[in-house]
Amino acid sequence: MVDLEYKKRVVIITGGSGGIGKAMGEAFTRSGDQVVLIARREDALRSTAQAIDPECSWQPADVTQREQVATAVNAIVEKFGKIDVLINNAGYSGYARGTNPAMPLDQAEAVWEEAIGVNLSGAFLMTFAFAPYLRCPGGRIINISSDAALTGGAGLRLAGYAAAKAGLFGLTRALALEYGPLGITVNVIAPGFIAGTDMNRQLTEEIIKGIAAQLPVRRPGHVQDIAAAALFLASPDAGFITGEVLNVNGGRVFGR
Ligand code: NDP
Repeated sequence: MVDLEYKKRVVIITGGSGGIGKAMGEAFTRSGDQVVLIARREDALRSTAQAIDPECSWQPADVTQREQVATAVNAIVEKFGKIDVLINNAGYSGYARGTNPAMPLDQAEAVWEEAIGVNLSGAFLMTFAFAPYLRCPGGRIINISSDAALTGGAGLRLAGYAAAKAGLFGLTRALALEYGPLGITVNVIAPGFIAGTDMNRQLTEEIIKGIAAQLPVRRPGHVQDIAAAALFLASPDAGFITGEVLNVNGGRVFGR
């Protein structure tokens, strides 16, 4: 077993300006790791990092833009050297403007490309940009998918999002094969409904209660549920787990 327990790991979290990314930043910081948050909005990144810890670092980048990704990776590697954990969490459901069968092709294509870009290509670009700097052995890659990969997006017209999040399953398994011999594991966390992030901010208390009532566990997910799963997959205890999907959804897909 690789001993990661007694040194300060460098943990990169995309989509780190709020929501689940922030909760993961807090959790890894609490466990003594050096966290670097990545997202597009500098102001949000700065205030989130400051709220987490004075030592928490951040780097602006749009994960869909190869040059921005390369610039961010260079800056991070120059500052911190080897990377221990990469969490591809940046995501966008786009359910404010989902596709529908009557939508003109050019509009549908734009929605599709945005969803695939952020949720799938972004994880691909980040992974390959960081690959030369991942600790071997002992590195960890964790991709944040969604239960939309299993449900098709629960009727919210999320074709691009559901396809991208399911695509992360395939990407993860392919990368598990490629990185396994180097001692790097690659896994997926597929969150179910997580209350309180920007993605779900517009939902009323009543809607959230309604969703929770349908779950076997009878409560909504919290950002800390996902952070706990990420801490586990990044830990030495998870060193024999790779290519797996960890569903963190309160049993959402069962009994239907
Ligand atoms: P939020 O909307 O709160 O956060 C999304 C994060 O992604 C923000 O930090 C945003 O920052 C960043 N982001 C978006 N686009 C880009 C981009 N192109 N480049 C870099 N960063 C980007 O969402 P959540 O915290 O709820 O979601 C986090 C992840 O969990 C996502 O992948 C999401 O799909 C997944 N998920 C969430 C669920 C939920 O119920 N909340 C359920 C299932 C999965 P900025 O705008 O500054 O770039």
